[in-house]
Amino acid sequence: MGRKFFVGGNWKCNGTIEEVKKIVETLNAGQVPSPDVVEVVVSPPFVFLPIVKSLLRPEFHVAAQNCWVKKGGAFTGEVSAEMLVNLDIPWVILGHSERRALLGESNEFVGDKVAYALSKGLKVIACIGETLEQREAGSTMDVVATQTKAIAERISDWSNVVLAYEPVWPIGTGKVATPAQAQEVHVELRKWLHANVSPEVAASIRIIYGGSVSGANCNELAANPDVDGFLVGGASLKVMMSTIPLGVW
Ligand code: PGA
Repeated sequence: MGRKFFVGGNWKCNGTIEEVKKIVETLNAGQVPSPDVVEVVVSPPFVFLPIVKSLLRPEFHVAAQNCWVKKGGAFTGEVSAEMLVNLDIPWVILGHSERRALLGESNEFVGDKVAYALSKGLKVIACIGETLEQREAGSTMDVVATQTKAIAERISDWSNVVLAYEPVWPIGTGKVATPAQAQEVHVELRKWLHANVSPEVAASIRIIYGGSVSGANCNELAANPDVDGFLVGGASLKVMMSTIPLGVW
């Protein structure tokens, strides 16, 4: 299948310039397998993107944590896809559950953003995932399928999309989905893509897992055939990015 393992670090709204430089320093010194085997992408807050990009070793890449849904203009506080492209920022995270929950980003809005970002040449880490309430109600698959459908209705080329399955309940809580729980949803998502997008996309898209991933649990999670990587929040700030891929390959 040849899906290259993907490790993303989502730094969220954290860090000072000094801290960010330190993380980059440690990351650069880390023993990470060759970029042919693993793709490493870190996502600092907007203001730190240029400095992180300039300091990172060249095989590591940066992602923005968001971008606006259409061309820039009179949208105070927003950053457009065009601006990211202009700064040579290759990736953007869209649809993170914190933005969905705190800022009311709907499935449709996220789908529009994914489509716009792709149309401008960005690569997208598209986040989906259910809340604890939804999981307990047995609607996990409905929720992630609906979220994915809103994207599928708006794009045709999935080659620049990484799908991040990030159930809401393990994010920042220390509660991790078990490897079996992660694998189960990833398999179902691939089935959904097979039936609703194409067998090729289902086989080739990277579906990564996020939610309290750490050095302690990453190997077990990565051992699942349908877990193609991680989106790491808290632990990426503790520089576990430099150790995470070891032992996985
Ligand atoms: P966490 O965050 O690793 O701190 O749970 C993951 C994410 O929100 O991307």
